[in-house]
Amino acid sequence: MRNAIFTIGFTLLLYFSIGLHQAWAEIMEQDTTTGETEHNWIESSVNYETIYVDTHEYTYWKNFLREKRSCDIFHKIKTVVYYCDIHGHTKSESHLVEVIHSEKHK
Ligand SMILES: [Zn+2]
Ligand SMILES: [Zn+2]
Repeated sequence: MRNAIFTIGFTLLLYFSIGLHQAWAEIMEQDTTTGETEHNWIESSVNYETIYVDTHEYTYWKNFLREKRSCDIFHKIKTVVYYCDIHGHTKSESHLVEVIHSEKHK
């Protein structure tokens, strides 16, 4: 009889520890799945901005004379803002779209 109680007790303990282990495993699984979950990035806005970068000098010929002129360089930047509705956060990516010279020259 004592043996039986011991066996039941041991079995309960075993079940309990298995249950704990399973619960723990589930927590671990959830943690890894959220870690591995891909973001659901949705394009939310697109902005273009032109920023001044530098001024350089260029030479050109005018009436057989070599002339100097200064030209401003601008970078046209495209910024895309993405929103992830899974985690509720945003990210932005910027790319150089075009280099613009204020003067037409070669
Ligand atoms: Zn996300
Ligand atoms: Zn230029």
